[in-house]
Amino acid sequence: RPYNFYAGPAALPIEVLEQAQAEMIDYKGIGMSIMEISHRSKEYEEIHNEAQQLFKELLKLPAGYKVLFLQGGASTQFSMIPMNFLSPGKTGNYVMTGAWADKAIQEARKFGETVIAASGEVNNYMEIPSISDIQVNPQKAAYLHITSNETINGSQFHSFPHMDHVPLIADMSSDILSRPIDASQFALIYAGAQKNLGPSGVTVVILQEEIIRNIPAHLPAMLNYETYTQHNSLFNTPPVYSIYMVNLVLKWIKQHGGLAGLEKRNTEKAKLIYDAIDQSGGFYTGMVKPNSRSLMNITFKVHNEQLEKLLLQKANAEHFIGLEGHRSVGHLRASTYNAVPYEACQALADLMIDFQKRNG
Ligand code: PLP
Repeated sequence: RPYNFYAGPAALPIEVLEQAQAEMIDYKGIGMSIMEISHRSKEYEEIHNEAQQLFKELLKLPAGYKVLFLQGGASTQFSMIPMNFLSPGKTGNYVMTGAWADKAIQEARKFGETVIAASGEVNNYMEIPSISDIQVNPQKAAYLHITSNETINGSQFHSFPHMDHVPLIADMSSDILSRPIDASQFALIYAGAQKNLGPSGVTVVILQEEIIRNIPAHLPAMLNYETYTQHNSLFNTPPVYSIYMVNLVLKWIKQHGGLAGLEKRNTEKAKLIYDAIDQSGGFYTGMVKPNSRSLMNITFKVHNEQLEKLLLQKANAEHFIGLEGHRSVGHLRASTYNAVPYEACQALADLMIDFQKRNG
């Protein structure tokens, strides 16, 4: 298998793929795939409930939180959040950290008043605004929204804001379950599955039940969080196979030491590549300021454009996949999500060091 550094959909643990393959045609002796049977069957219900339970366990969620499975990707959450929570006279507050935060803001503007509570624009979004710079009026704020990891720039919050009486909402699409967090700080966390959780098709929403008290009654059922809390995310057919895969990934995370185990592994992996950048004497440059660097998406450039192209060619020829930077930022991006093995990061660091030796 190639070294997979795609930003999403992204690598899955090989053990998970192998188990899914073994169970593909005959799930636990029922003679059919889990894809082929009712979402009301006991076999599926077990998977559904186990996955919810594993989220609670891995994130150490306190009582009062629900784990929901939706469709429509994280992008649908950009609209559902203001539709459900942004009532007239209130403001949706956003920390503007880059392309994904911007998409969330653009959607919220369609539904109500938005406020940029802090912005990384002065640094071209290559630094996360400092927590002390985040300004929110708690009397008016319906919520404060952050993007915990900006997948495109490669920046990540290293600590989170806390405002009394202001529910904190986070788009964790690209770093969910990659490190321990104090989940009780968040009123709502959401993530499209296709980076750290499994295949695309399911969007996980973890929310404090308290925040869904005043949802407008006119919302379409499928865009109302209450529909999911009231029906245990089984109001309609859930994305059964994606949830089945997420459940396998959650078990894999548990076997790998839970979130503390993954943070250690992710830190070691990212260090290999950041060290190759930082010890290159300017041959490579990291795009993001060190205080905001992501453990999940490592963005960097080579000091000379021709050499950068040559490095990409060489990497592709040696079966490193997905290293092109996002078209809006360019250069290079190595996405080192949970399932990317240490060996892949070691191989990339070795390739970078060797390339510099030959071309430096
Ligand atoms: N938010 C972040 C941080 C992302 O990285 C992405 C996708 O890459 C999205 C939102 C959009 O997710 P989806 O494609 O599931 O709508």
